[in-house]
Amino acid sequence: MAKSRKTKKTDKDTEKMINPSTGTAGSPVDVPETTTEESIEKTVKSKLTALYRLQSIDFQIDRLRSVRGELPLEVQDLEDEIAGLETRVEKFNSEIQELETEISNKKIAAQESLELIKKYEAQQMNVRNNREYDSLSKEIEYQTLEAQLAEKKMKEFAAEAEAKRELLKDLDEELAERQKNLEEKVAELNDIVAETEKDEAVLLKKSEEQRARIEERLLTAYQRIRDNARNGLAVVPVERDACGGCFNKIPPQRHLDIRLHKKIIVCEYCGRILVDDEIMNSVQDV
Ligand SMILES: [Zn+2]
Repeated sequence: MAKSRKTKKTDKDTEKMINPSTGTAGSPVDVPETTTEESIEKTVKSKLTALYRLQSIDFQIDRLRSVRGELPLEVQDLEDEIAGLETRVEKFNSEIQELETEISNKKIAAQESLELIKKYEAQQMNVRNNREYDSLSKEIEYQTLEAQLAEKKMKEFAAEAEAKRELLKDLDEELAERQKNLEEKVAELNDIVAETEKDEAVLLKKSEEQRARIEERLLTAYQRIRDNARNGLAVVPVERDACGGCFNKIPPQRHLDIRLHKKIIVCEYCGRILVDDEIMNSVQDV
């Protein structure tokens, strides 16, 4: 009994040290003045570290979601391409069909001409005079030309249909290849979605746990900055004397203040929370 009470007291002490600003007025990033210099530094440092760690986790979640977001677009592109190929295949098929109809029409026409020629030739055996004979000769000549023309057209249409069949074969191959690609892409997408969802769940849990370690007001400020920042970063390092978020110059005095960890300092241009290398290096992996 006594032992557990003792443990509880220790926890409370620790909490007090890390988070002494509960209930104090002022900006969410203020630290009360009652604390000693050393403990202020320690408190601000631990707050910034906790916040930067949270951001590293949240950033990974963002990245997973963006990876997942691009994949359906690739699938969509393939689906569009396949739909386009299918339309072309359909068009070729109906054109070939039309040519086949034309060919059989010409075949019938040629047949009819040949039959007429036979009929006229038979009639020529029974003519009564030269005029009738000549007239039938003219008809035979005409039908011979008609039959030749029909044969010629038949050959042209057949060549055209054959060329289209060749193209259709290529098109069918391309279509089959794309469909195979699509199947693979969809399978890959499903795998990645399953994988990233698993990773995301782990990270979301980590994020929740990390959030529980940060005071409410600081968390609200973090979320607000993050929501407004285009790159989703609320806590940024100072890089080459400039804000790592908006790249505006940071005055030397401000830079020094950031390094001293006496209070949480935000960029006067973009409002992002600024951290130095020491904070960044303390958060290696999440
Ligand atoms: Zn800035």
